[in-house]
Amino acid sequence: MKKFIHVVILYLGFLSASGVAQQTPGFFTLPPLPYQMNALEPYISERTLSFHYAKHHQANVDALNKLVQEKGLGGISLEEIIQISSIDSNLKTVFNNAAQDWNHTFYWSSMMPKGGGKPTGPILALITQAFGSYEEFRQQFIDAGTNLFGSGWVWLVLDNTNTLAIVPTSDADLPLLHNQKPLLVCDIWEHAYYLDYQNRRKDYVTLFLDHLANWDFANQNLSK
Ligand code: FE
Repeated sequence: MKKFIHVVILYLGFLSASGVAQQTPGFFTLPPLPYQMNALEPYISERTLSFHYAKHHQANVDALNKLVQEKGLGGISLEEIIQISSIDSNLKTVFNNAAQDWNHTFYWSSMMPKGGGKPTGPILALITQAFGSYEEFRQQFIDAGTNLFGSGWVWLVLDNTNTLAIVPTSDADLPLLHNQKPLLVCDIWEHAYYLDYQNRRKDYVTLFLDHLANWDFANQNLSK
């Protein structure tokens, strides 16, 4: 398996070197935030968002670009880098930074000013089908975020049986690796909330659902 992975990497490296791949080799950029830095106040402060986006996420992108050059992974899409590095222990730091880049980009779009509350559209029907009611879903999502041990993410996904599920993942792990379609995510790393809420993680996950969740984004992901 390891030999196969290296062959794939070499081949993709060849594609990159030969100009077949369209992406600029080894160059990922921080995607623009979909709103102003203070747009999520009073729930997430400008201070938290600026550290989270411009320091933490930027650091993942910078580290990824450096590693991609060092490991000869230029010209490969972010999703391919995540897949390849997830099964090679020698590429653990590549995986961590690539997946955290992907996860954060998904997280920014999972929030919006004046968001949250009970959704509308197809996502509500699926939530009711899977959890019985929005209120039950809300409680289970808050519990999943509150009880996750350590750092990670809480996802709303469509699983491989086409059923909605709440899935907590640790560190940088993500639905892409588990045959699940991500619809919405809440960042449960302390840097996402500690400046505003300190140890009150439950307050942060609750306000995420009640005031920030971007259900339009979830509905769009559902139809992809
Ligand atoms: Fe984060």
